[in-house]
Amino acid sequence: MINVTKTWLPDKKKYISYIDKIYESGWVTNNGPLVKELERRLEDYLGVKNMILVANGTIALEIAYRLLKLEGEVVTTPFSFVATTSSLVSNGLQPIFADIGSRSFNIDPGKIGSVISDQTSAIVPTHVFGNACDVEAINNIARQYNLKVIYDGAHIFGVRYQGESLLKHGDVSTLSFHATKLFHTVEGGALIVNDDSLVEEARFLINFGIDGPDSIKALGTNAKMNELEAAMGLCVLDDIDLILEKREEVHYRYQNALEGLVDFQEQNLQSSRNFSYFPIVMKSEAKTLELQKALNEAKIYPRRYFYPSLDTVNYISNHQVMPVSRDIASRILCLPLYPGLELQDQERIISLIEKTLKV
Ligand SMILES: *Cc1c(COP(=O)(O)O)cnc(C)c1O
Repeated sequence: MINVTKTWLPDKKKYISYIDKIYESGWVTNNGPLVKELERRLEDYLGVKNMILVANGTIALEIAYRLLKLEGEVVTTPFSFVATTSSLVSNGLQPIFADIGSRSFNIDPGKIGSVISDQTSAIVPTHVFGNACDVEAINNIARQYNLKVIYDGAHIFGVRYQGESLLKHGDVSTLSFHATKLFHTVEGGALIVNDDSLVEEARFLINFGIDGPDSIKALGTNAKMNELEAAMGLCVLDDIDLILEKREEVHYRYQNALEGLVDFQEQNLQSSRNFSYFPIVMKSEAKTLELQKALNEAKIYPRRYFYPSLDTVNYISNHQVMPVSRDIASRILCLPLYPGLELQDQERIISLIEKTLKV
């Protein structure tokens, strides 16, 4: 069985040596030494400051909304993982969609202005599949209307933009370290707080709003990462060069074989790539489903990322229709892509795609 991804499990002995340390110290959670070490090492590796590790990528978004005091309406993308939208709704915010570009799959800055109202407090775009949004255009709109910007950066681990970390854009950028992601801590995530003055507040928001032994400063939650998760992250981070190298190989094998047969995402040329996903777009939904079925029959499971388009979710009540997002969602598949994908398995995937799509 070949799935869209496979969790990278680092050397077991190394992981156990961290577990031994945890047993010796007895410190298992609450901003322990391994969480602090991972924060420092990730800041260093990614070239960012003010990284705050949390329990998952969804709660990273929710903390960002509270930190930036969002209210009312938030302009966001209909083409993302459901958490981008659901985190807004569950925090009492109204998602207002702006449609995506049909080639970039990212929110189209040209469609943001017309949905901004006097209720709008922020823009929440996703850098879809690691492809950078048009951050300059989004920043200009935000400045013009005095809006906050929070990037859902769940897919952008290690992505550079004009030579610097893409995470440096937005008031806050978030990451997900879920087991299915390029870099993981089993479950986990992070906020990169680009405004130095908000870091301290973010630290107590992730810990119930507690800012001292006898003091509760604000409405917080429990968003802490624990030491066992940080230990996994430290081990995976040691392997990151190898992970990226293997992913790149798989990526270019697909790209060279499938060029002309399917459409690819158009890359933002200012941004580097991390090979986190390999999306292909077919001519029609019927062809897409036919290909999915052919692959499934061979026990190969690509995923319909992202499907459905989030403007169709049942708890979205404002009846906006996002035709580009719905169209792409209906015709896209993400192919299996992970470091341990065997060459002969990948060749089998490619030949099934060729057989199904070539007429
Ligand atoms: C994975 C993902 C999330 C959620 O992250 P979790 O760590 O699973 O909570 C949010 N947004 C996007 C775009 C994602 O892919």
